[in-house]
Amino acid sequence: MTLTTQTQPTTRGPLDDAIEQLTEACHLLGYDHGTLAMLAAPRREVTVSIPLHRDDGSIEVLTGHRVQHNLSRGPAKGGLRYSPHVDLDEVRALAMWMTWKCALMELPYGGAKGGVTIDPSRYSAPELERVTRRYTTEILPVIGPTRDIPAPDIGTDEQTMAWMMDTYSVAKGHTVLGTVTGKPVSLGGSLGRALATSLGVVHVALAALRHLRMEPKHSTAAVQGFGKVGRGATRFLADAGVQVLGVSDEHGAVWNPDGLDVQALEKHVDLTGSVTGFPTATAIDNDTLLTLDVDVLVPAAVEGVLHAGNAGSVRARIVVEGANGPTTTDADRIFADRDILVIPDILANAGGVVVSYFEWVQANQAYWWSQAEVESRLADRMAAAWQQVLAEAAERRLPLRTAATCLAVRRVAEAHRQRGLYP
Ligand code: GLU
Repeated sequence: MTLTTQTQPTTRGPLDDAIEQLTEACHLLGYDHGTLAMLAAPRREVTVSIPLHRDDGSIEVLTGHRVQHNLSRGPAKGGLRYSPHVDLDEVRALAMWMTWKCALMELPYGGAKGGVTIDPSRYSAPELERVTRRYTTEILPVIGPTRDIPAPDIGTDEQTMAWMMDTYSVAKGHTVLGTVTGKPVSLGGSLGRALATSLGVVHVALAALRHLRMEPKHSTAAVQGFGKVGRGATRFLADAGVQVLGVSDEHGAVWNPDGLDVQALEKHVDLTGSVTGFPTATAIDNDTLLTLDVDVLVPAAVEGVLHAGNAGSVRARIVVEGANGPTTTDADRIFADRDILVIPDILANAGGVVVSYFEWVQANQAYWWSQAEVESRLADRMAAAWQQVLAEAAERRLPLRTAATCLAVRRVAEAHRQRGLYP
């Protein structure tokens, strides 16, 4: 089955991988070309110009996107990314993965993603506030608690969400807490949201170790990325007794074959802003981190870091995708041949959107849960999805990604079918 739609990119990137994964799932599910085309095509795409007054008085025009990939199961849901690498095809891929992630986790959402092509480290906080408020104003007609609910992603945080919520609320004339998730707790954010993705990553990492009859206390890990996902994952892995031998960030990587002192590492990062220069570890390069001799590798940065060029050298037994799309389809094939278990992003990093859902539910009801309640519901959801994916994989003899995608695509296609094509 081949697919020609307007969404096909000209150069190979995450969208090719996303479409290839969907195509394979549709093929396995026996869906026709029309169904595949419908599931591949984003329902709605908005591209906006963001004119920005720089602090020095000059004007710069940035570009932003919001892609709503699918709306069949509910309002669209997905993060907002600020990165110089953002382009429309990347946002399309990330939006499609959000659709499958929400369906897999049985959240009543479709999938979306937003992005602004900007390097946030080169802009002041007031400049970022102006960018965020202008972007929000431009996409205002398509977002809202019943339409599309943004959340943080790479380069954005709870402050960004507070500005978005405020801009939306000012335009509506009243405070709308359910507009975005990942807000500060003081502003209607949920307890437990900030570390939810990391916690979810570690829930499935431990489940995978148990599945392979490996003891966490006798296992080792490496984590790529020390941001919103990687830092918490490192801490929770260490809390579970897993020895974390290596970590990296955008500046470099560090390694200690006897295990890193994670508490000391976090202090070092708080002081210096980077994992590099951590005294009780050896500096290694970022590529070496991915091929360390460990049991669990957690890529928790960006797309496409595990590819045909390095997948053959990966020595981990389990890859747990903290990032979205870190493994290309070429690398997936190599890992399958080498019997490396890949826990796919739409399962492994779903803790973030699951607690986003909890935040939206709490905001809509104006009734707040305790952190213990949030964490226990998160643990239940992660465990249930893990079991479902494992069962689907065993029944159809599929890699976990294919099984997870099949489960999710089937739920979305079923919603399409039951709603019917209108008109
Ligand atoms: N950006 C996160 C993700 O990729 C969270 C999305 C959300 O909470 O809506 O899953």
